[in-house]
Amino acid sequence: MKTIDDLEVQLGGFAGKRVLVRSDLNVPLDHSGDSPVITDDGRIRASVPTLRRLLDAGARVVVTAHLGRPKGAPEAKYSLAPVHARLAELLPGVHVGFSPVTVGAEAESAVAALEDGQLLLLENIRFNAGETSKDDGERGAFADELAALADGFVSDGFGAVHRKHASVFDVARRLPHAAGGLVAAEVEVLQRLTSDPERPYAVVLGGSKVSDKLGVIDNLLGSLLTAGDRLLVGGGMVFTFLKATGHEVGKSLLEADQLDRVRGYVATARDKGVELVLPTDVVAATAFAADADPRVVPADAIPADRIGLDIGPASAQAFAAQLADARTVFWNGPMGVFEMEPYAGGTRAVAQALADGGAFSVVGGGDSAAAVRTLGFADSQFGHISTGGGASLEYLEGKQLPGLDVLD
Ligand code: ADP
Ligand code: MG
Repeated sequence: MKTIDDLEVQLGGFAGKRVLVRSDLNVPLDHSGDSPVITDDGRIRASVPTLRRLLDAGARVVVTAHLGRPKGAPEAKYSLAPVHARLAELLPGVHVGFSPVTVGAEAESAVAALEDGQLLLLENIRFNAGETSKDDGERGAFADELAALADGFVSDGFGAVHRKHASVFDVARRLPHAAGGLVAAEVEVLQRLTSDPERPYAVVLGGSKVSDKLGVIDNLLGSLLTAGDRLLVGGGMVFTFLKATGHEVGKSLLEADQLDRVRGYVATARDKGVELVLPTDVVAATAFAADADPRVVPADAIPADRIGLDIGPASAQAFAAQLADARTVFWNGPMGVFEMEPYAGGTRAVAQALADGGAFSVVGGGDSAAAVRTLGFADSQFGHISTGGGASLEYLEGKQLPGLDVLD
């Protein structure tokens, strides 16, 4: 993978050069007030060092990024304008412009007006249908327009590197390119998680995207985890595991079509000597709400009219014990609906165990990262907080990541 230093040599220095940077600025926004509020600016802050590196070297930096999932056309609620304001605050002394259009004559003249060491953020790249198109021709034509804005390309949006999108994949094939510092650092962490990790190795999975995360278990149990390692399951996906092991789960999240697959995982873990750790108690409520009579119930006796919204306190303690002597931990997905205090206990306990323990710990997933921060933990209490949940899961699944492959 080529580095920014390599690209600097290739371009004969950055001064006067237009460098297109694909960043991941896809932050959570709260739209309930008069103007949108960024609730976690972690991804913006994580993007700053690469931008600084280029600006300090005199590059004219053009930043492209997406926000949310607009359907290939402009939509006000997905505008990067609030991100632009925050980015400008994080780059004091730097001229940080904003272009409401992404490509074409208007964008080209905004780029042409940049001076050395100045930056222009382009509006949400997914306002263009070409960005995410499955049609190589359509996507390529859009990438041509993007490439016209720059002399070189830096891929730094780790959260999107698993996407075959114009601003991630196709543009790298059209310009001299390099991995940004953030992508390089994330890949280094993933390599540490997958090649000769220190054991015991514990993987903690939770969250709500059940099918997405079941995929990674195949590869974890197939090759990554060995006897003595641990797979801890909480969050929404745990109910598919509890049901698969013969328990009723009331009105909890359940993927009935995955039960056979999950039974297979249970058997494989047993055969390989990987400890599959499931909760023995659950915080269950009558509705998806903070005030819906939350109660701790045994995991094998969830009442039919209740929804499991967190692992219970005994389970939280057991999970923490499993993490205490682990040497490597990968965690993706909150243990419960941490956004509501009555269901935050399991997530807090896992975060605390990682903060207290001596493992190399990696927290992946947008909501998991937001959870540890909103629960009051500092980034420095973990080995690494990844900016890309989907990308790190696909890497651990052993899949090819188009946005990384193209950087070789
Ligand atoms: P990440 O972004 O870290 O990959 P996900 O997006 O998969 O995580 O899931 C995060 C969401 O999962 C959180 O908003 C949380 O409220 C939800 N969640 C956790 N446990 C449960 C549960 N038992 N039932 C429903 N939703 C849950
Ligand atoms: Mg999420």
